Amino acid sequence: MIGVILTLNAGSSSLKFALYGEDGDTPLAQGMVDRIGGNEASLSLKDGAGNALPVADISPNDHTQALAVVLDNLRQAFPDTELRAIGHRVVHGGTDYAQPVLVDQTVLSKLDKLSPFAPLHQPHNLAGIRAAMEAFPGVPQIACFDTAFHRTHPWVNDAFALPRDLYDRGVRRYGFHGLSYEYITGELQASAPLIAASRVVVAHLGNGASMCAIQNGRSVASTMGFSALDGLPMGTRCGQLDPGVLLYLLDQEGMSSDAIADMLYRRSGLLGLSGGLSNDMRTLEQSGTPEARQAIEYFVFRIQRELGAMAAAMGGIDGLVFCGGIGENSRLIRARICERTEWMGLEIDHARNDENARIISSDISRVTAMVIPTDEGLVIVRAARAHLAQENAT
Ligand code: ADP
Repeated sequence: MIGVILTLNAGSSSLKFALYGEDGDTPLAQGMVDRIGGNEASLSLKDGAGNALPVADISPNDHTQALAVVLDNLRQAFPDTELRAIGHRVVHGGTDYAQPVLVDQTVLSKLDKLSPFAPLHQPHNLAGIRAAMEAFPGVPQIACFDTAFHRTHPWVNDAFALPRDLYDRGVRRYGFHGLSYEYITGELQASAPLIAASRVVVAHLGNGASMCAIQNGRSVASTMGFSALDGLPMGTRCGQLDPGVLLYLLDQEGMSSDAIADMLYRRSGLLGLSGGLSNDMRTLEQSGTPEARQAIEYFVFRIQRELGAMAAAMGGIDGLVFCGGIGENSRLIRARICERTEWMGLEIDHARNDENARIISSDISRVTAMVIPTDEGLVIVRAARAHLAQENAT
């Protein structure tokens, strides 16, 4: 029997998963159940080399059934394996969790209390944990939090200028995408230790997007705050918004909070700015309509603006790292962002950028710009392996 570790990332209607061996950075298999509860639910499953594996027809109604489908298919594809641990991506760890944690009923009820802070994500993440606990009562379940990496923020980057009791009631700038920032920090520490020990801005630019100021390996500021809506515009999320707009929509336009939430999370960002054309950067780059061009212009401008803010939070900048689907692949967006960064000592080398090289700044650039593919799943599996190692040692 080969010991394996499963990682799960449960969304509202999806369940992403990856299966890892006891060591190694590449998953044995990974995939996703999509449109859970819908008529067109689907399962995709690929092996470590990215080749599609055969799957059965499925129709899961909820996360428990989706997990059962995943497990059935994994058992077929990897018959001689034994599950040693399950690692879960959880959006919110509140103020308590700065590290991954072994989940038991007490932890689960603490995490339940954080659902109002991330109502669109946390309940689904926890449904994934509950489904896994039910299926494997004896197997350790490790929760890894998107907020944990940011618990080192100084108070000025943790608070809003609101009446103080709201801070005590949890209205704070938590920051998200922490698993990605942790991975990039580890990569820098291993391959570019001098940069890792200095002042780095990481731009995680995917469907969700944020930036983080990381000084000597510790997060000091990030563009996302209380929710995953703040900061940069995203595929369908608005990014930073004057709170007066919300009051206007509530009071003058008579919108309900549900309708506003739907607009801010699902109909804004690149999708909204492009006039409903697409949330997908590739489509926008290819389309060339005036609205698509403006959506890209807005995206680039807000990144440039926040880059200045992140650098200011650290008193300067020595490295800029691009990651996420757009950061890792879009030569155009990286080039456009770096058109206006000479003032901070960052000069792009266009040939390197066009090649998607790891270092894309010029030799004379004071700031080193890099492209590093992120791997949130690996951070989760490493946390699960660390737990197993600790368990074996005691
Ligand atoms: P998520 O946040 O859902 O994990 P990803 O990190 O996969 O998303 O990023 C998805 C985004 O990356 C999409 O907007 C997609 O268009 C963009 N993207 C992926 N490849 C390219 C490419 N070659 N050029 C431009 N954009 C790309």
